[in-house]
Amino acid sequence: MYKYDVIIIGGGVCGCAVARELSRYKVNVCVLEKEEDVCCGTSKANSGIVHAGYDAPTGSMKAKMNLRGNQLMEPLSKELDIPFIRNGSLVVGKSKEDMPRLEELYDRGNANGVKGLQILSKEELLEKEPNLGDDVYGALYAPTGGIVCPFELNIALAENANVNGVDFKFCTKVTGIERQEEGYRLLTNQGVYDTKYVVNAAGVYADSLHNMVSEQKINITARRGDYCLLDKRAKAHVRSTIFTLPGKFGKGILVAPTAHGNLILGPTAIDIQDKEGTNTTREGLDQVLKKAGMNVKNLPLRQVITSFAGLRAHEDRDEFIIEELADAPGFIDCAGIESPGLTSCPAIGERIAGILRERMGLVEKDDFISTRKGILRPANLPKEEQAALLRENPAYGNIICRCEMITEGEIIDAIRRPLGAKSLDGVKRRTRAGMGRCQSGFCSPRTMEILAREWKMEVREVTKSGGDSYLVLGTNKDVF
Ligand SMILES: Cc1cc2nc3c(=O)[nH]c(=O)nc-3n(C[C@H](O)[C@H](O)[C@H](O)COP(=O)(O)OP(=O)(O)OC[C@H]3O[C@@H](n4cnc5c(N)ncnc54)[C@H](O)[C@@H]3O)c2cc1C
Repeated sequence: MYKYDVIIIGGGVCGCAVARELSRYKVNVCVLEKEEDVCCGTSKANSGIVHAGYDAPTGSMKAKMNLRGNQLMEPLSKELDIPFIRNGSLVVGKSKEDMPRLEELYDRGNANGVKGLQILSKEELLEKEPNLGDDVYGALYAPTGGIVCPFELNIALAENANVNGVDFKFCTKVTGIERQEEGYRLLTNQGVYDTKYVVNAAGVYADSLHNMVSEQKINITARRGDYCLLDKRAKAHVRSTIFTLPGKFGKGILVAPTAHGNLILGPTAIDIQDKEGTNTTREGLDQVLKKAGMNVKNLPLRQVITSFAGLRAHEDRDEFIIEELADAPGFIDCAGIESPGLTSCPAIGERIAGILRERMGLVEKDDFISTRKGILRPANLPKEEQAALLRENPAYGNIICRCEMITEGEIIDAIRRPLGAKSLDGVKRRTRAGMGRCQSGFCSPRTMEILAREWKMEVREVTKSGGDSYLVLGTNKDVF
């Protein structure tokens, strides 16, 4: 049996942001994650946009968390050494009739506290983004909109929390929760965990966990979003994030650069029953391709290198639920965190840590380490420094992923650092090896050899993403 002050269920951006904020204090914290790594749920499959904050209704939790998260993202990205770019966003109107809706967003944005909003004329818009369609009419411009790498954000939050003393237990699925005299007993596939406080950051499954302890039931629907990702050659097509006017199911299909210089198109918004249903569909991808081209002309669709889908955790009340439950003291929900959850995660972490600080009378540590150094990228170094690094450590001269120019040195770093990569996807999300044009066709066997060597296992034991996702099923001589 394990005993903690606080157990956080879920190692997505929200759980890890809470973990990092709590690691500022003298408190015993653990994250339980059912997968083999952090960033395996919704946090790994989204648009990566840091929203400005004009969408959510004024006064709502979504609006507050969005604005605060947007403000915190820049200093956080510096502390954690992750890419964040304030590229600005545009909501494009196609006709005079669309302008009142853009003005409504403008007014709401101002009421929400978003700075620098402007309504642009067609000429101003085309000057900013020459590849927009000829039939655009005007736009809402939000200079505070940005883009972030969701993987690096999630992983950096977790690493920093871990360095500051938070335990992470992977492959540990919470299957039941029992109320104790003081706190809760969490039943998992790896045994029993006792804790005084629980933070429920279980993404699309947060309703099941909430409903185990509360009579006030909530219901989360998985709302799938399909995407197409284009090669870096397409990156200059637009500079800002281009939105259509929002509809009933969300912000519509966008076209945007990613923090690493790809171009992303999507997402759809399709309610589904299966909370593991992250498969794309022909119908969904057709919708993405058609609608993305409605605002942006000459999209280089031959540059699509992959497609994927993510699941929004849509709660029936269409609002973030971030609170201690009235009928379950010590149980704090972080539920219904659909978009803009990625943007909001620093603010959500701050808010939940604040609730616990008050409740538990937490005291700050003297030795909290607020910064974290990302993986060293030789490709970003000046030539002389590159040469010196290679002399010192030749692994930085061995290119493993030719598309993204990722070296053996970077992969070894990804494996050896705190909460290091254990699988091919773990390496991919930390280094980008396998994220390029060939989508790991070339580098996966070589990355598998490095994983096997570092973790002292056989190559056939290496998995794509933990569990039984083995990549080697036998040798081609086995049949004889
Ligand atoms: C299509 C799409 C586009 C989006 N675009 C944006 C965007 O551009 N900008 C933005 O701000 N937001 C965006 N979002 C929203 C954002 O991605 C999410 O709000 C955010 O990632 C949610 O993080 P989370 O930590 O709450 O959930 P998750 O990342 O899903 O993490 C929950 C974790 O809990 C674990 N878990 C679940 N059940 C258990 C259990 N019983 N025991 C142990 N572990 C468990 C899961 O394995 C998972 O790792 C988008 C979402 C989608 C789907």
